[in-house]
Amino acid sequence: MGTIQALRGTRDILPEEVGYWQRVESAARQILGRGAYREIRTPIFEPTELFERGIGEATDVVGKEMYTFKDKGDRSITLRPEGTAGAVRSYIEHSIYSQGGIQRLWYTGPMFRYERPQAGRQRQFHQLGVEVLGSADARADAEVIAIAANILQTLGLKNLRLNINSVGDLEDRQRYRQALVDYLTPYKDQLDPDSQERLSRNPLRILDSKDERTQEIAKDAPSILDYLGSNSQRHFEQVQQLLSDLGIDYELNPRLVRGLDYYTHTAFEIQSDDLGAQATVCGGGRYDGLVKELGGPDTPAVGWAIGLERLILLLQQLQEQPQSALDFYVVSKGDRAEAQALVLAQKLRQAGFSVDLDLTGSGFKKQFTRADKSGAVACLILGDEEAENHTVKLKWMASKEQNAIAQAELLENTDELRRQLDSQKP
Ligand code: ATP
Ligand code: MG
Repeated sequence: MGTIQALRGTRDILPEEVGYWQRVESAARQILGRGAYREIRTPIFEPTELFERGIGEATDVVGKEMYTFKDKGDRSITLRPEGTAGAVRSYIEHSIYSQGGIQRLWYTGPMFRYERPQAGRQRQFHQLGVEVLGSADARADAEVIAIAANILQTLGLKNLRLNINSVGDLEDRQRYRQALVDYLTPYKDQLDPDSQERLSRNPLRILDSKDERTQEIAKDAPSILDYLGSNSQRHFEQVQQLLSDLGIDYELNPRLVRGLDYYTHTAFEIQSDDLGAQATVCGGGRYDGLVKELGGPDTPAVGWAIGLERLILLLQQLQEQPQSALDFYVVSKGDRAEAQALVLAQKLRQAGFSVDLDLTGSGFKKQFTRADKSGAVACLILGDEEAENHTVKLKWMASKEQNAIAQAELLENTDELRRQLDSQKP
């Protein structure tokens, strides 16, 4: 019978790699906690309508990339393609806004998009994201950018570039949209097919096209920055000033428009030179229109999402997988010894040590080979003689020094044992 393989565009994160993920998650958790961001966990599937309304039907995500299906109750369900819509739905559904003030939320988890899989682009991928709800202040925009930069820097990433832009408010966008359509229409035949279609539906997105000829044409398109009203202009200047105050370098990129419809004012991306075609690690911006669009009170908001696969590709280029060293490897042979070994291992684990217990039942020689490979600081050995006397042989793997000790004594002074183990660690 044939074996079954993971679906195209999905992959297993094996134990050999998971250390990177844990490192990212714990750094993020710590930094977000210090920033008074609170975690929110929303369902992986939602009513399809949430994304149609919240992301917009003219976007690639909704138009082409969603995993949408009917469940057995004939409801249209979609696997979430991103995290913002769900977080905002939850914010409205639980009237989180009625707690007053600003809500700082973060989330992480798998997202699903039907895309062409390639390095850094999958059909199930993971995002870490933040949303700050309730503040229209430029400080909120600058803060979320600073938090993203802090996470990426803490992980040791280099060669990152922050691009920022403003897409203004609705009115600015309408004026700009017209100017853009006027500029692009004479080139219509030369645009890539997607962009031709977008000319009427979503012309701003043409600026985002990855097609070479379209990019060339877009280069001379009018700049949205020339169409910002005075409020939008002031907001954008404040964001830039605050980024400078924070010591965060940035580049203005007037062609940066996020793929999603609900964005207003600040849009930004953090890109890496070391990722090839899928260069964007973090994308985000302000989305003052979304909460109201989804039926909540008029609430300004700003956020971002980091693509964790891309982040981890970068980490892997930089450093070895973080290892957590094993304290003990326990080998045993003989019925009584094997039973005592299990009890001893379990007591050591409860006392806070990391312990691998050899369960194979093979001869001592093979067990010792595995002990060597395990990377444990020390090996504990139990045979018939040790079982008889309730002792255990303690062997330090680095020095090969070995001595016998009563099992009870080993468990008695765990602080001293911890010190000894730490002093032997490489
Ligand atoms: P791209 O232009 O690369 O498709 P996007 O604009 O669709 O990105 P967002 O919706 O802003 O991306 O998502 C934020 C981040 O999530 C991206 O910058 C990227 O790091 C990551 N991401 C998005 N789609 C995928 C995917 N299919 N596989 C892996 N990571 C992804
Ligand atoms: Mg995309």
